[in-house]
Amino acid sequence: MTNTIPLLTPRVANWMKFLCLNPNVLSDLLSEYGSPINIHHTDEFKQNIKELEDVLDQAEIPHLVQFARKANKCKAFVHASRIHGCGVDTASERELQECLDAGVDPQKLILTAAVKTRSMLELAVGHQVMVVVDNEDECRLVNSVAAGLQINAQLGIRISGFETDTGKLYSRFGFDLKTVPDLLENWTQEGLQHLSYRGLHFHLNGYSIPHRGQALLQSLGLAEELKQAGFVTDFIDMGGGLLMNYLKKAEQWLNFQRELKKAVKGEREPITFGNNGLGFQMVNEQLHGSLNTYPYFNTTPRKTFLSRVLEVQDEAGESVGSRLAASGITLRLEPGRCLLDQCGFTLARVASRKRDARGDWLIGLEMNMTQMHSSSADFLLDPLLIPRTEPQEDGPVQVYLTGAYCLERDVLLQRKICLPSFPEVGDMMVFFNTAGYMMHFFESEAHLFDLAKNIIYRAGTSSLSGDHFYADENSMDFLFQAQE
Ligand SMILES: *Cc1c(COP(=O)(O)O)cnc(C)c1O
Repeated sequence: MTNTIPLLTPRVANWMKFLCLNPNVLSDLLSEYGSPINIHHTDEFKQNIKELEDVLDQAEIPHLVQFARKANKCKAFVHASRIHGCGVDTASERELQECLDAGVDPQKLILTAAVKTRSMLELAVGHQVMVVVDNEDECRLVNSVAAGLQINAQLGIRISGFETDTGKLYSRFGFDLKTVPDLLENWTQEGLQHLSYRGLHFHLNGYSIPHRGQALLQSLGLAEELKQAGFVTDFIDMGGGLLMNYLKKAEQWLNFQRELKKAVKGEREPITFGNNGLGFQMVNEQLHGSLNTYPYFNTTPRKTFLSRVLEVQDEAGESVGSRLAASGITLRLEPGRCLLDQCGFTLARVASRKRDARGDWLIGLEMNMTQMHSSSADFLLDPLLIPRTEPQEDGPVQVYLTGAYCLERDVLLQRKICLPSFPEVGDMMVFFNTAGYMMHFFESEAHLFDLAKNIIYRAGTSSLSGDHFYADENSMDFLFQAQE
């Protein structure tokens, strides 16, 4: 049986490569801040925003990009958004408060929290931040808050239930789009006088380009209908879910899936912990299911994705892009993950090595499964081992990486990993491109372990040292220092 491990080589930005070539500096950071740490850099963030803005400028569509902050909690990206001039999509009171404190223009903020409290709404409405409403109870609460403040609340209406070639899209969020004209009429009848309708909002699960095109066309149709009834739509917000590409090579991606299927069928050595099928499984000696992970390799990331959405055509053959441009309606979008492409990595220290009863090597890292957690079945990128001393000529070696929680399932990556040399205690492991969701979204403090520190790297002209890094909580101080 073959036992070569399929590789999944990540795309890695130059700044990350540069830091990895300076192991002493990285090791000092681990000594100072503990393991693991998340290291961020904001240059790529601004480029990623500009990439999307360029597509919309070329299509002559008025636009506002709003960074979906829930994908990464660092303040550095809020400041970068403000400096770049784009907006931020906030999903909690604290996210919103921090954006206001950072000086982001309230006109460029939007509140899309799934559950909205009175105090959250007082903050948003008081600053005239656009609020996206999800249900009628929320509309009444917003109206009551706005009445109390003696102002009008600026509202987007979250809609769902779009018709597509695969049927009506269900979502637990928002109003069925068919009900919106009645909803707006009812506001007047119910005496909700403090609500100003400004636009439509949706966010689709998954990564379908045609579905987003269809949703935009149906939103444009609804905006037309509302106009007849006297309600002007200033913006349509297409939410996030623009793809990003993590991997270098298509053939590795295909090969990995081939080998995974073979392993699940028992035709080769397992390539995942406990032969986890990551979505594939054997039922009555037949292989069933499909890969249940993010499409880590894809050929339509970010700007290609957006361009393709704009190319979707209506029944008369007119494209979404030209219909939007002709309508004069502003296209808002709220990408999270794809703006964080190449903006951060996670660094952890090797604590132990041992062989388990199956004969597999388990490498224990000073981190836990919540500090790099994919909402899909696994994070399918090869990590990099940075040896602290001259590596022995004892590789390659196949290992699993395990974490600090008392759970059998605290295995950091389900995949078996091939390392070029056998790791020593104190060596470092780098997980690339974790800034979008992986490092923050699921992190927990079980066992009372501290949360990982977030460090910002700022490039400088002097040779690399600790001076090029600061803790994210000090983001504001560093900006002011930079301005002095
Ligand atoms: C999560 C979310 C986003 C961001 O999605 P990405 O996949 O990170 O681009 C945008 N808008 C809403 C309402 C969301 O819930």
